Amino acid sequence: MLFKSRIRGKEEYQINYLKENCMLVSETLALVAANIKAGITGLELDEMAEEFIRSKGSVPGFKGLYGFPATLCISPNEEVVHGIPNNQPFREGDIISIDCGVINNGFYGDAAYTFAIPPLKPGVEKLLKVTKEALYLGIEMAKPGKRTGDIGFAIQHHCERLNKFSVVRELVGHGLGEKLHEPPEIPNFGKRGKGPKLVENLVIAIEPMVNMGRKEIKQMPDGWTVLTRDGSYSAHFEHSVVVRSGGAELLSNHEIIEESIKNNPFLALV
Ligand code: MG
Ligand code: MG
Repeated sequence: MLFKSRIRGKEEYQINYLKENCMLVSETLALVAANIKAGITGLELDEMAEEFIRSKGSVPGFKGLYGFPATLCISPNEEVVHGIPNNQPFREGDIISIDCGVINNGFYGDAAYTFAIPPLKPGVEKLLKVTKEALYLGIEMAKPGKRTGDIGFAIQHHCERLNKFSVVRELVGHGLGEKLHEPPEIPNFGKRGKGPKLVENLVIAIEPMVNMGRKEIKQMPDGWTVLTRDGSYSAHFEHSVVVRSGGAELLSNHEIIEESIKNNPFLALV
């Protein structure tokens, strides 16, 4: 009972704060998207993102959380998530997962996107496309009465059964609110009809992490960076959504990010 009661919908004023924050995260990722190219470094993007977030009167949500040192998680190529921005310039052919969070008015915002610097290596375009499709298939399952396993199944089925990629098991989506990670966990795998039930006005982050090769991961000695064990490339897309009776309402916005990508001649839109 205690566990069950922790999974509850948000009040509208709370949803408004979360929406505002997720929009700022999306705008930050759109700014990043306008500036990514071969030769720029993750540290430069991180500085740009932090300055932008603070200029809007908000605060980076990841910096200092659990001890993470930066505003953005920047995870290129075989890195899955939680990469620490560094001074290594990006190169042609890189794919770069960038995850951003903010906190303001006591609530978080959270979203992620994977960018691609052409020319892409064989199979990478499909990896990105399938991961993004899986995100939206998962979002379609985010309705009151459905369970977390319905979301996980939709994502896993598309990535593994239909497209022969692998979803990461150890890292999952999550409830979002006054904490970055709230119940319930939203795994990117599962069985239909299993797991905690979704309720109206619950806010969750859905974030498939998909490997081109095998599902196993390992961690770098920095204690943060997660990478694929087999060295294959990995993609990551994340939306925060609110569960509504008519279906999920997006709180984050990938359209403005994709607008930036279209206007950036050094990026490919997949
Ligand atoms: Mg995130
Ligand atoms: Mg998240």
